[in-house]
Amino acid sequence: MHQSKIWLSSPHMGGTEQKYIQEAFDTNWVAPLGPNVNGFEKDLENYLGGQVFVGALSSGTAAIHLGLLLLGVQAGDEVLCQSMTFSASANPILYLGATPIFIDSEVKTWNLCPDALELAILDRIKKGKKPKAIIAVHLYGVPYQIDAIRTIADNYQIPILEDSAEALGSTYKGIKCGTFGDISVLSFNGNKIITTSGGGAIVTHSVAIKEKAVFYATQSRDNAPHYQHSEIGYNYRMSNICAGIGRGQMKVLDNHIDLRRLMHDFYVSLFESVDGVDVFCVPSDDYFANYWLTAITVDPIKTNGLDREVFRLALESAAIESRPLWKPMHLQPIFKSYPYYGHKIAESLFQQGLCLPSGSNLTQADRTRIKDIILTLFN
Ligand SMILES: *Cc1c(COP(=O)(O)O)cnc(C)c1O
Repeated sequence: MHQSKIWLSSPHMGGTEQKYIQEAFDTNWVAPLGPNVNGFEKDLENYLGGQVFVGALSSGTAAIHLGLLLLGVQAGDEVLCQSMTFSASANPILYLGATPIFIDSEVKTWNLCPDALELAILDRIKKGKKPKAIIAVHLYGVPYQIDAIRTIADNYQIPILEDSAEALGSTYKGIKCGTFGDISVLSFNGNKIITTSGGGAIVTHSVAIKEKAVFYATQSRDNAPHYQHSEIGYNYRMSNICAGIGRGQMKVLDNHIDLRRLMHDFYVSLFESVDGVDVFCVPSDDYFANYWLTAITVDPIKTNGLDREVFRLALESAAIESRPLWKPMHLQPIFKSYPYYGHKIAESLFQQGLCLPSGSNLTQADRTRIKDIILTLFN
């Protein structure tokens, strides 16, 4: 029998999205501005809590690009960046003509290693250049070591660009991810915890910075009746149609988090008694993860030679998608000539790690299919 594909993470509509799109059509707000854009921004500001201002943009990547620009990154500058991440965290450094300096992860959160970060800062200063920004990522929805990274950033007075693309709804000590950076970034790509079909947002603590981001995102038009430009502009604003999807998705965000965490619980109990397979979990009660994706690490020495590829191929043969962890940026052909600081933690995680189907729309039947494949591997 042909079985439908089980995806790693696929869009999951809540039901009210089309109402907002219909409204946009009815009122002819079919443009990169309009009531849904403003409404979605307000929804996000309320959700994140605290004094934040949100600018809705065309993608998370665009938000990182404008975020770095707003932090003053220019051609020739150096930017510290978590190596284990999606390439979209690092590409905007190159858009600006700046140089990425890649930093290893630590084993507790898989995110920026504070020791490697500080070592890199000291070494870059010694070599003559203080880095302009730190890009810190909450991989798979698990917050990075917020306090330790903030302490280092403040000590050396280097701002943080918080890449919270995977962590909407995650918290650290009760405070929402997406509010910890000097500038923070969200993504609503099709595979994220909520989607606008494609989109992102910049989050700041200053209304002036938000307004400047929107200015850049709408072609940097000076205040004049004709088109006049004193700065480089970008076409990065979110459309009112996409924002309508976002408004509908905000109504189901907390439900999606519950369902993603249910998938995580499912894998925790599935692998509980399996020697050599560890499910990636938050390190303490200070951390709350949306578990956007559940990831495991597989130690073939303890599993009698079953490595993560054996898992991946077994799942693939049953039309179940899984994927190795993000390949570290300092190992990517495009980035391999840039400096890297660390002890190959990210490398070994990449060798052993696998992301498993984690969508909020997976069913009991899907879980049974996944479980059966995993159990046959151990028989
Ligand atoms: C998805 C993602 C991005 C990019 O977001 P887009 O909206 O797809 O441009 C950036 N960083 C991380 C860590 C991501 O997972």
